[in-house]
Amino acid sequence: MLPAPQIYADARASVLARITEAAREVGRDPAAIRLLAVAKQQPAAAIRDLAAVGQVDFGENYLQEALGKIKELQDLPLIWHFIGQLQSNKSADVAAHFQWVHTVDRERIARRLSAQRPYHAPPLQVLLQVKLEDEAGKGGVEPHALADLAACVAGLPRLRLRGLMCIPPPRSSGPEQRRPFLQLRELLEGLNRAGHALDTLSMGMSADLEAAIAEGATIVRVGTALFGERR
Ligand SMILES: *Cc1c(COP(=O)(O)O)cnc(C)c1O
Repeated sequence: MLPAPQIYADARASVLARITEAAREVGRDPAAIRLLAVAKQQPAAAIRDLAAVGQVDFGENYLQEALGKIKELQDLPLIWHFIGQLQSNKSADVAAHFQWVHTVDRERIARRLSAQRPYHAPPLQVLLQVKLEDEAGKGGVEPHALADLAACVAGLPRLRLRGLMCIPPPRSSGPEQRRPFLQLRELLEGLNRAGHALDTLSMGMSADLEAAIAEGATIVRVGTALFGERR
């Protein structure tokens, strides 16, 4: 068996190669796409191995699990992204321990995060999670309510609104995969025409990152293709 760091080096290199290829395919600069390693259910040791081969950005879904790992890895200069469902009673820990939040979907949570962001920390980087047509049941702001939420978040002092995020259901074919990503990009462009200056689209995972990059993803969130199947 290969030692763990070599396995992660290989997995990361092949994901980066997919990103580069997908970007070239549509004439984009691969350097404009950030790889976010989604580490839910992975031990701190796996994150350390991946960090050792150059990975900086890590995403976590479950707060309690994440806080343990963040503490254990505080000797490393990692950037932590919260990508799980946000609950009001957990917002203080998110505001204190993460640099990015991808899943803001209501004013109440946004106001709490801003109030709870420690004064000595830089503003919390915020993405609004959008619930697209076919994402019934999950979190996310409805497209018709997006402009109001964006205006609210942009006005909060300790938050910096950077863009949008979505989690479409898995689809097999290319055109089907691209549709929700196109929708999200158009929503972002609409906000920018209305005066925002948003630069971030968090979309695409292990199975569909090529489709997301074709539609303008600037952060792809990848778990399985880096760490292997989750239990
Ligand atoms: C788990 C998860 C991912 C990564 O999914 P993979 O298919 O394992 O790459 C990305 N985004 C969110 C919000 C997730 O919960």
